[in-house]
Amino acid sequence: MILIIGAGLGGLVTAIALARAGLAASVFEAAAELKETGAGLTLGRGAQHVLRDLRCQADVAARACPAGTLPFLHWRSARLLMGAPDPGDGTPDDGRADIVRHIYRADLQAVLLDHAARLGVAILTGRRLVGLAQDDGGVTARFADGSTARGRVLVGADGVRSAVRGLLHPGDAPRFTGHVAYRFLVPRAAAAPFMGQGRSAIFIGPRRTFNRYTMQGGAVVNCAGLAETGEAVPEGWSLPAGQDEVAAAFPGWHGDVTGLIGQARAIIKWGLYDRAPLARWSAGRVTLLGDAAHAMLPFLGMGAAMAIEDGWALARCLALEPNVDAALARYEAARRARCETMQAMSRRQGELTQAMDPDALEPAAVPMANQALMGFDPVAAGV
Ligand SMILES: Cc1cc2nc3c(=O)[nH]c(=O)nc-3n(C[C@H](O)[C@H](O)[C@H](O)COP(=O)(O)OP(=O)(O)OC[C@H]3O[C@@H](n4cnc5c(N)ncnc54)[C@H](O)[C@@H]3O)c2cc1C
Repeated sequence: MILIIGAGLGGLVTAIALARAGLAASVFEAAAELKETGAGLTLGRGAQHVLRDLRCQADVAARACPAGTLPFLHWRSARLLMGAPDPGDGTPDDGRADIVRHIYRADLQAVLLDHAARLGVAILTGRRLVGLAQDDGGVTARFADGSTARGRVLVGADGVRSAVRGLLHPGDAPRFTGHVAYRFLVPRAAAAPFMGQGRSAIFIGPRRTFNRYTMQGGAVVNCAGLAETGEAVPEGWSLPAGQDEVAAAFPGWHGDVTGLIGQARAIIKWGLYDRAPLARWSAGRVTLLGDAAHAMLPFLGMGAAMAIEDGWALARCLALEPNVDAALARYEAARRARCETMQAMSRRQGELTQAMDPDALEPAAVPMANQALMGFDPVAAGV
C-alpha cells in the first residue's frame, strides 16, 4: 500500500497512475470535503501527455477549452507585445491535440476524483497528517483524528504548506515571494464589453500582470491580477479582498482590465509563497511531490502541471523498481532538474514581463517562448 497525503491534483494523479500500474494506494486529505477553490488553471502540455497516458484526457478536454495564443499586451494601451491575438471561441475539443488548455480547477479535480474512484482508490477526507514514523518494514502515518495508516511508501502531496516536508525538515518553511494574486471569475455577459483582445490575454506592466481567459465553454472569464507588494500577506487559499483593493493595485491600466475589475465579485487574495530547493526530496520511505517539493511563482502557469508530471513519474518508478530506495532515487533523477528549472524560469518570466518598460520586452528571451521547457513530453522522455 502506498499512502498519499493530499487529494490535490498531484496526489490524485499519483493515485490514478499507481492504480493503473496495479499498485494499491490510498489518499488521505485534511479537508472534510473537497470543494472548489474558485480559480481556473492553465494546463500545460506536459500534464496533458500524462492525462492522456492515464486515459483521463478526453474527460478533461470535455470540461476544458483550448488556450489559444495567450498574447502579451501593454498594460496601458493593450498594444500587442508578444504572440498573436486570440480569436477562438473556447469550444471544448476531443483532447487529441498537443496544446495548452484552460480548465476550472474544480472541474479537473472532479474528473480526477471520478477516475480514481472508478479504479478503486480509497480517498479518505478529514484526515490531517500530523506525524509519521518509519522502520525497515514500512511507514506509519498518524492523523489528527487519532487514526493511523501503514504502508510501504508515504508520498507528501500536501501542497506548499506541506506537513510531510515539515516533519522531514523541521524549521523549513514556505517563503513569501513579495507577490500577491487577486483571483476572480466574471460571467460571459458581464465580461463581454472588456474582451476586445480575444478570449485570452496577458496584460503586462511595471511590477504587475493581469491575466484573463475564458473557460467552461466560454461561459466564464477567469481573471488573475498579480502584483508585487511590500505588505506581508499571510498564506491562504481564500483571503477575501474588496474590489477597491484590486482597483487600487491596477491604477491607470487599460479599460479592459479595469472594466473586468469593476465586475469582480467574491475576490480571492493569495499571498504567493514558494519553497527553497531541497538537497533531497526523499528520506527513507517518504518522498515529496508538487508544491510540497518545489512550489513556484505562477508566472508560467506550470505549478499544477509539475505536480501532475511528478505524480506520473513517481508511480512509474515505483512500478518499475521493487526496491523503495532505488525507486525514489530514480524518481528524483527523473524530475529534479525539470522542476528546479521550472521554478527558476517562473521567477525569470515574472522579472521580464513585469519590468518597468514593457516595450523593452524581447519575446525570444521570455521563458514561455522556450519550446523545450513548455512543450516537454514526460511520457515520451520516460523515467
Ligand atoms: C495565483 C496562482 C495561479 C496559479 N495558476 C496556475 C496555472 O494556471 N497552472 C498551473 O499549472 N498551476 C497554477 N498554479 C499553481 C498550482 O495551483 C499549484 O502548483 C498546484 O495546485 C499544486 O498541486 P499540489 O497537488 O502539489 O498541491 P495542492 O493542490 O495544494 O494540494 C494539496 C492538498 O493537500 C491537502 N493537505 C494539506 N495539508 C495536509 C495534511 N497535513 N494532511 C492531509 N492533507 C493535507 C490540501 O488540503 C490539498 O487538498 C497557480 C497558483 C497560484 C497561487
